[in-house]
Amino acid sequence: MCGDLRASDAGQPVVVMGWVNRRRDHGNLIFLDLRDRSGICQVVLDKELTPDGHAKGEAVRPEYVVAAVGKVRLRAADAINPKMVTGEIEILATELRVLNDARLAPFSPAEDAIQNEEVRLKYRYVDLRRMEMQRNFRLRHEITRAIRDAMSAQGFLEIETPILCKSTPEGARDFLVPSRVHPGEFYALPQSPQIFKQILMISGFDRYFQIARCFRDEDLRADRQLEFTQVDLEMSFPRQEHVFAVVEKFLSAAFAAAGVSLPTPFPRITYDESMRRFGSDKPDRRLPEMTDVRAAFTDENLATLQIDPALPVVAFRIPNVGELSRKEREDNWPMFDKNKGAKFIDDFKRLAKGFPDSAARVRELAGAAEADFVIIVAGDPAHHIKASDTKFEGRLSEREINVYAAAGNFRTELAKKYADRHKAFEVTEQVVREADPQQAKLTGEMIDGSQAFHPMWIVDFPMFEYDVATGHWVPAHHPFTAPHEHDMQNLESDPASVRANCYDLAMNGLELGSGSIRIHRKDVQQVIFKSLGISEEEARQRFGFFLDALEYGTPPHGGIALGLDRIVMLLAGAANLREVIAFPKTAKAIDLMADAPTGVTEQQMKELHLRVQLKT
Ligand code: ASP
Repeated sequence: MCGDLRASDAGQPVVVMGWVNRRRDHGNLIFLDLRDRSGICQVVLDKELTPDGHAKGEAVRPEYVVAAVGKVRLRAADAINPKMVTGEIEILATELRVLNDARLAPFSPAEDAIQNEEVRLKYRYVDLRRMEMQRNFRLRHEITRAIRDAMSAQGFLEIETPILCKSTPEGARDFLVPSRVHPGEFYALPQSPQIFKQILMISGFDRYFQIARCFRDEDLRADRQLEFTQVDLEMSFPRQEHVFAVVEKFLSAAFAAAGVSLPTPFPRITYDESMRRFGSDKPDRRLPEMTDVRAAFTDENLATLQIDPALPVVAFRIPNVGELSRKEREDNWPMFDKNKGAKFIDDFKRLAKGFPDSAARVRELAGAAEADFVIIVAGDPAHHIKASDTKFEGRLSEREINVYAAAGNFRTELAKKYADRHKAFEVTEQVVREADPQQAKLTGEMIDGSQAFHPMWIVDFPMFEYDVATGHWVPAHHPFTAPHEHDMQNLESDPASVRANCYDLAMNGLELGSGSIRIHRKDVQQVIFKSLGISEEEARQRFGFFLDALEYGTPPHGGIALGLDRIVMLLAGAANLREVIAFPKTAKAIDLMADAPTGVTEQQMKELHLRVQLKT
């Protein structure tokens, strides 16, 4: 392969095939940079040695597909290119064959950064030829393989589950497929293999996994796609710890495949603690934590500042931002979510004028340095949101959670905006840049990822959340999540107090996965359906097969699913999932290359017993 040739190959006869990356015509000598998936090497066409090859070389253009026959030779000292791994050698061709010509594409894979993403997606086959993309997909392959190996080593069987099936509730809209054979009836594409993997436990497989494709019809964001891939697993007779240990094994194997070491076990915190410290259930631990600064204010201070004294008063700091003008601060204001019943103070100079002691104390409590941007977030009595005030000893109320979340979201957005100044994310970029999957494979040598990647288990989520519209407590997770053993008796009498036996895995501000110990009793499952407002009849119709299965000897079971695309995105150092999915959809849910979705023929519609009625 082009990229494999080294000085030690000098003298070897070779045949290389690939694409013309660049061509330089020096009269009697033509240089072709030939590219295949392994890399690039230089081919020399000397008019004297191969007049025919040289003539063909004059006609080839970028992205022509050629074969070069020749001999590897060392370059002259002054022609060595230290930037190329093949820079010490070149191939002196004795023959050139043009295997195919190529139209001029709107961009060249030889370019590093192509700004126009729509063009990249339309000509995806040209885009994927770029070395960066080739690297991303090789990495994806290595990671997936490492996960498969790690799961097999732990006794898990990979079993496929149907794509055409019945709705699985994961909180998104279903994609539906009309049945030709059964007029008016539809299959749903799986939002996840959830019900099937539970049935596999009832079927006695004990440990299942699958690199599974899931489909959710929802609005796309940078870290979402309509179809995505999960590392999905389920096991019988587990406790949370068992699931954690399995995930820690396969995830550290996945990181190792990328050349990065990831220490285990991962730390754990409760949902409440995560909200308090990070204002989020997917904390980014590369940034300083939030601080409770209630103690910096007297009750009178709070009254003057119109801050709700019963709700949290927190501060967070973005390091090294330096002084901001009023205009610069104002530009940040739209990032603050005003619908959470909270307000913020970002003008410290002004605060220090009116409340010098409080201002000084806040900075001290937050551990703020001179150049740090400090923001206080607190409850706004003028904009109380509708939420439950139910409060349990030692637990956060919904209103409190909202104030923390407002602070946490603002913190994340500002941290993204000022990344150049606080530089907290650079350590990750550096580790990803320096990691060498090939080296790791050969020698087991890895780069230390402990400062760059911060996995964290979040546990003890509330089981229900208050739905202000209906005044009901509704399950906050998919309806197969078991409640905490202790809280079981409160399920109907006092839903707000019930904690779920579920867990999330977060890393660097991303949710990598979530799972739970499942309900394995039919009576409990029915209570949960009921609390979701699903009647017995509807439950029968939608999940009857599953409720039946629960009655035929169901072992206690639990599992989790991790987003494979996200794992690869993190390890590729990519800013977007589209960089690690070969044929992704745009933010408008379009496949620009294949031009999907599109209309279908009358005949097809007829066969499917469908008629489209567009809204005018
Ligand atoms: N099915 C869940 C999901 O897709 C994961 C799980 O509970 O195992 O998020």
